[in-house]
Amino acid sequence: MSQPSQTLPVHSLIEAGLYLRVRPCAACGDGPLVADDVGINHDADRHILAVPTVCRACNQQAEFAFDTAGIELHESPVVFLSNIAPGAPINHTDEPSRIIDVADWLTLYSIIETEARTVADRMESRQLHISAARCIDEALKFFDADNDLPPGDALFTDRSRDQFHRCPERFTRQNLIDLRNKLPVKRWPRIDLTSDEQSPSPAKRWWRPW
Ligand SMILES: [Zn+2]
Repeated sequence: MSQPSQTLPVHSLIEAGLYLRVRPCAACGDGPLVADDVGINHDADRHILAVPTVCRACNQQAEFAFDTAGIELHESPVVFLSNIAPGAPINHTDEPSRIIDVADWLTLYSIIETEARTVADRMESRQLHISAARCIDEALKFFDADNDLPPGDALFTDRSRDQFHRCPERFTRQNLIDLRNKLPVKRWPRIDLTSDEQSPSPAKRWWRPW
């Protein structure tokens, strides 16, 4: 099993769970990585959440360590890491994520928005749409005020930079705002969970499916 090389800073356990959802396997480059619920351990004194994972594609085991300092843990970490926890806040601050970049937020948006359109339960669909909207909000946090394209430091990996160069129009601020406006919550930066649901328009699958 590969050991964690660093403790990953997160704003919430939701962010940690979403990170694992888009993190490719270090062994095969595929995924997804699935958290081993039984092996999850939270060291409350050191504020470290250790999450063992297994790759569904190649069975490679790995372990990730998340920094939980400043995060209130009201429920078992398993609740957040095993599910998307629809509708739950990801990051209360204006600071962009330090572990999920613009490309990965777009991927998460696409995954969750597709799920929102395919689930039968209306309330679950709405909650997933809220989660999809929050992914766009997180992507927008990387943008400078005067720039329609994300700055270079908003793309953390060669994989993300490749996604950007293959389809830069997906990464424009205007495209993000257009996607956001189709979702059933008010546009960034204000999020009003009481607003009425709207019918989202179908989105073309552009990301790499697992
Ligand atoms: Zn793998």
